[in-house]
Amino acid sequence: MSDHHSEEVIVGWEHHPFYKNCLDVMSAAGRQIDLDPNVYQRLAKPRRVLYVSIPVRMDDGTIKVFDGFRVQHNTTLGPAKGGIRYHPEVNLAETSALSMLMTLKNSLVRLPLGGAKGGIRCDPTTMSRREKQSLTRRYTSEIFMLIGPDKDIPAPDVGTDAQTMAWVMDTYSAQLGYAVPGVVTGKPIEIGGSLGRVDATGRGVVYTIIEAAKRLNMDLGENTTVAVQGFGNVGYYSAKIINSLGCKVVAVSDVSGGIYNSKGLDINAARNWLNEHKTFDGFPGGDKLSNKELLELKVDILIPAALSNQITKENADKIKCRILAEGANGPTTIEANDILNEKGVFTIPDILANSGGVIVSYFEWVQGMQSFFWSEKDVNNKLWEIISSAFNRVYDFHQANKVDMRLSAFAVSIEHISKAMLYRGFFP
Ligand code: NAD
Repeated sequence: MSDHHSEEVIVGWEHHPFYKNCLDVMSAAGRQIDLDPNVYQRLAKPRRVLYVSIPVRMDDGTIKVFDGFRVQHNTTLGPAKGGIRYHPEVNLAETSALSMLMTLKNSLVRLPLGGAKGGIRCDPTTMSRREKQSLTRRYTSEIFMLIGPDKDIPAPDVGTDAQTMAWVMDTYSAQLGYAVPGVVTGKPIEIGGSLGRVDATGRGVVYTIIEAAKRLNMDLGENTTVAVQGFGNVGYYSAKIINSLGCKVVAVSDVSGGIYNSKGLDINAARNWLNEHKTFDGFPGGDKLSNKELLELKVDILIPAALSNQITKENADKIKCRILAEGANGPTTIEANDILNEKGVFTIPDILANSGGVIVSYFEWVQGMQSFFWSEKDVNNKLWEIISSAFNRVYDFHQANKVDMRLSAFAVSIEHISKAMLYRGFFP
């Protein structure tokens, strides 16, 4: 059996549209910087993958066995780092693609961290707190040998939050017999979390929008309209923070659909309604609209902050924003990216736009190791410094080489990590 064949049998990565999309962007970016083909080959596959099956006793007494993964894509720059996702569509190829994006994101913003991702195929919205706790603790004990403050440091992603991280930390610490806060980031403040972590991804999205608006000579104020897809951690804080700059958030949505108000939505009222009713249906401050309609609204700024593959060749032509700020990972396919470029949409790509989360996760890890905690103002200022200088590097590449922002971000990132990989060499 050829190597190629055995790869297909084992994982079939190359056939997964999201994984393929990441490879296509990476190879196009590689051509911009004359990437060493050996480095490309290495980056095209994850370093390690672990599949785990996770038995959970459900509240009705039955045992349900869930599928979970942890993928470490690259550890050249430091310990692997990346979120854990709980969602019914989690699979190995998607988790691997997301881990690759983490490597590239961390390299782009120059963190001393590698890339990883984990996930469990489950629907946390239908599970009780006890079931989620059992699931998380068993998953943690199954991936115990891979994770650790110097090895691989998980964080929240879709369907997981600070509480999930607290359970991971507690389970890991129980095995060792002492508290190990550095094993995860995105923890509650009381057990070593960082101020400013909970809103860091949304804040970073808005910081990159501020930088983009400067370059485009666009004012951000009451005449600026914004639509946000997804109203979880990234979507809610992006909406809230851009609203605090005076911009008008006219539409938001979650998995059940969205709401629209041309005069601007009250973001806190929308959040309270969603917390209470679990759907935007019936929200008195706006009209109902679908996720599809939200993406196609004529707005100045569109922030997809839900899942991947939302803007494809089917709807790219209908996208009417001036700035597309990718809060989510992989929301735009490569074909859609080309269509958006032709239409003059300015894209702030995912690995840049949503890097605020991992930047402040890095701060949390550093603060934990030093047992010395910073003020929220310090955290936000340092976030601004790192993300705006990453924006500048990408924008300068984009201007100098006349390639779009996505290829520029990938090229700038790959250039940095490829040098590190070549210095370290390929063992043996
Ligand atoms: P979350 O679970 O807090 O929120 C996800 C949101 O997406 C929810 O509002 C959910 O209802 C909505 N959603 C789910 N399926 C949907 C669908 N089919 N259509 C429309 N909306 C849908 O997750 P999050 O942490 O906000 O992550 C959102 C995105 O941002 C993901 O792509 C994630 O990988 C990325 N991201 C998250 C972080 C972070 O720090 N949390 C950092 C970087 C990137």
